[in-house]
Amino acid sequence: MIIERIKGLFAGQLLGKQVTVAGWVRTRRDAGSFSFIEVNDGSTLANLQVIAERTLTNYEDEIKRLTTGCSVVITGELKESPAKGQAVEVLADVVSVVGWADPESYPLQKKRHSFEYLREISHLRPRTNALGAVARVRSHLTHAVHRFFQQRGFFHIHTPVITTSDCEGAGEMFQVLTASEAARKGALPEQGKGFFGKPAGLTVSGQLQAEVYAQALGRVYTFGPTFRAENSNTSRHLAEFWMLEPEMAFCDLSCNMDLAETLLRFLLADVLAECAEDMALFDRFVAQGVIKRLQHIVDNDFIRITYTEAVDRLLSSGKSFDFPVSWGVDLQSEHERFLTEEVYGLPLIVTDYPAAIKPFYMRVGDDGTTVAAMDILVAGIGEIVGGSQREERYDVLLARMQHLGIDDVDYQWYLDLRRYGTVPHSGFGLGFERLVQLVTGMPNIREVIPFPRTPGYAPC
Ligand code: ATP
Ligand code: MG
Ligand code: MG
Ligand code: MG
Repeated sequence: MIIERIKGLFAGQLLGKQVTVAGWVRTRRDAGSFSFIEVNDGSTLANLQVIAERTLTNYEDEIKRLTTGCSVVITGELKESPAKGQAVEVLADVVSVVGWADPESYPLQKKRHSFEYLREISHLRPRTNALGAVARVRSHLTHAVHRFFQQRGFFHIHTPVITTSDCEGAGEMFQVLTASEAARKGALPEQGKGFFGKPAGLTVSGQLQAEVYAQALGRVYTFGPTFRAENSNTSRHLAEFWMLEPEMAFCDLSCNMDLAETLLRFLLADVLAECAEDMALFDRFVAQGVIKRLQHIVDNDFIRITYTEAVDRLLSSGKSFDFPVSWGVDLQSEHERFLTEEVYGLPLIVTDYPAAIKPFYMRVGDDGTTVAAMDILVAGIGEIVGGSQREERYDVLLARMQHLGIDDVDYQWYLDLRRYGTVPHSGFGLGFERLVQLVTGMPNIREVIPFPRTPGYAPC
């Protein structure tokens, strides 16, 4: 028996044929001599309407007892539907109930539930329209990312999850500790016993290891989970998130910005074209006008300004921020959002940040005080990409590390890349969940990852 996906049935090629579908009941409505059953199998947002006539042998015993959430397998003829808003329907010959869902206790009902409520049942929430659509769009974007890079001669590198290098230097690394180490009193990871007697943690970024492969294969990207122990309960931070990090040899800051902008515009255009049905749902029920906003980004060049210009613009705006603006202090989300939403109205690439607020690996500018960094800021979210040209000069890098108190012995391998055949190179990190937030318009990052990990909360 071939089980068709409902999405495929809407294409219409199987009209007049016997088909079998399998999925979960969304609703059942009785109308005299038959019942309408709306079935969803996750392949698409739309439900398939099934007509079950009372002549079916299990009509009274089973079909009339079907409620939201029951699983069914249905065989019948695919017909053109006379009903408005749907092209096809199935006239059932067989409706087999696979699993019941007690309506007294099933947590999902026909009404709309709040996202906060759905978070508490993250094992059931993908069965809702909005969270199902997020999962499909997220999957589509993942593949679009690989397509983009594979078409441009990049290689996909798997960088390690367990590592000793805290490349952002922000002290946000989760330490690795075996159960037996943890059980032994006093053997805490800061005493250097976590990973077979050595300190190690979960990666905060795959960048440094991606640089290794960029300096051999030329253009690479890594795309995997990263972990940050940040106790920031915001709508755009997670303790576990996915990051896409391309790294390119022989590429300066402007080449880096061009790639990031091309990538973002490619991904948005792709999802608008390929995920139209799910995008229409977001546009209607989650973030009104999101399709128009994404199209505007696709159609227009990003704006590029320096950090110094951004600070001047904020200071001259006359607006009072919760966190005061001054040169040398990192931009806060309220500043980033003000610039993109109220000043420029387009994604903004901010370059040349003060060296003092950026990590050791960024290339120091001729002025000695700024680095060749670039952040991309978007409306509604703030920072979505953080990147830079990397410091390729051995002496300058070593001096900066020593100045910051970074133990260069731990980073000999990284310094070797500059000692042997160094080249100018660049890369960036795109927060994948922030991208999915931008695309779907979901206000909270907890809704765009299947199982969010935030302080004090990690169900499943
Ligand atoms: P932020 O300023 O928002 O805390 P960051 O500057 O610390 O971000 P980077 O180290 O530059 O972040 O990481 C690259 C990208 O990864 C960011 O631009 C962002 O899109 C994403 N990102 C960073 N931290 C998180 C997080 N905790 N949860 C989700 N995405 C994140
Ligand atoms: Mg951060
Ligand atoms: Mg930042
Ligand atoms: Mg950053």
